[in-house]
Amino acid sequence: MKSWFRIAAILCLVCLSVPGAFAESVEYQIERMKDNVYRFTAGNYRSVFMVGDSGIFITDPLGKAAAQWLKRELGERFDVPVRYMAYSHNHVDHTMGGEVFADAGVTVLAHQYAAEDLAWTRAPTAMPDVTFEKELRVNLGADYVLLRYYGPNNGRGSVSMRFMPANVIHVVDWVVVGRMPYQNLPGYDIHGMIRSTRELLGEAPFELFIGGHAEAGGRKDVERYLQYLESLYAAVRDGMLEGKDLATLKADIRLPEFSDLKMYEAWLPSNIEGVYQTLIDQSYFNMREDIRPAP
Ligand SMILES: [Zn+2]
Repeated sequence: MKSWFRIAAILCLVCLSVPGAFAESVEYQIERMKDNVYRFTAGNYRSVFMVGDSGIFITDPLGKAAAQWLKRELGERFDVPVRYMAYSHNHVDHTMGGEVFADAGVTVLAHQYAAEDLAWTRAPTAMPDVTFEKELRVNLGADYVLLRYYGPNNGRGSVSMRFMPANVIHVVDWVVVGRMPYQNLPGYDIHGMIRSTRELLGEAPFELFIGGHAEAGGRKDVERYLQYLESLYAAVRDGMLEGKDLATLKADIRLPEFSDLKMYEAWLPSNIEGVYQTLIDQSYFNMREDIRPAP
């Protein structure tokens, strides 16, 4: 058991039915993870917030009902207002519900490509007020949040957020700890995932990683995730270079050293398919004259 799980005070656990098309039960939860940095959970989704002396910095709203719940809880638990809300990336399953906070005067932040995507696609959430290209530092009294862009990895304008001085890193979707990457990697750039994760690990050390899904963890967990991505990529690429088709790759590639990751059995074949399709779509493996079909 990791120490931050032992010290994490579970402040609230509520189950309620969300009215709507799916009427599914979503579990909301707020956990203190380290110092003044908290994790907000809505079903399988997670975001992070930091409570500074002069205000609260929140990240993805995770849908309208989730945002309404979070707004009410923050108002009841803390005596400082929410000042900033930063979108991790453009994907609407994380960014919807932004209007709940924006309508209350919260400043909305996003990378310029996430903002562009939300505007061009007329996404049903609050548009960002402030955008940035490479890095943005947001001060909350003595505390601050550092947002950083690495290039393409998942969706558009997906950034890391470092909460200081707690030194907690939050990344959504392009790093997942304790679980396999999502299904057949829809909207992912496998080269970018590997490059971005290497870059993140090359930065100053962090003390805690909190993902947008699955578990929180430490540096070793993020390193292991990178090892999985690199192993998966190399196995699919090498098999394709040997002329193997997708069915053969799915039958041959096992990577048993990662079998403890959640969804390993269910998602390994689709992870393989995701890399295979990326190498065709992005690197035109189907046009490689040097590759002969395997006998
Ligand atoms: Zn996600």
